[in-house]
Amino acid sequence: MNCPNCHQGTTVEINLRISTHLVTLRSCSMCETRWWKADDNYVEVGEVLQLATAMRR
Ligand SMILES: [Zn+2]
Repeated sequence: MNCPNCHQGTTVEINLRISTHLVTLRSCSMCETRWWKADDNYVEVGEVLQLATAMRR
């Protein structure tokens, strides 16, 4: 997949599982823009951290 930000780089996807949530980090090799998805919804990195923190309680 080409980067929607710079339209030049290719993006790599890293899948993580946090508790019951499937979290995906997609990052561009060219402009280093990052996107986070949780359960197929785009989320802010803060929300991902909240999921990770909630898991530890
Ligand atoms: Zn890019």
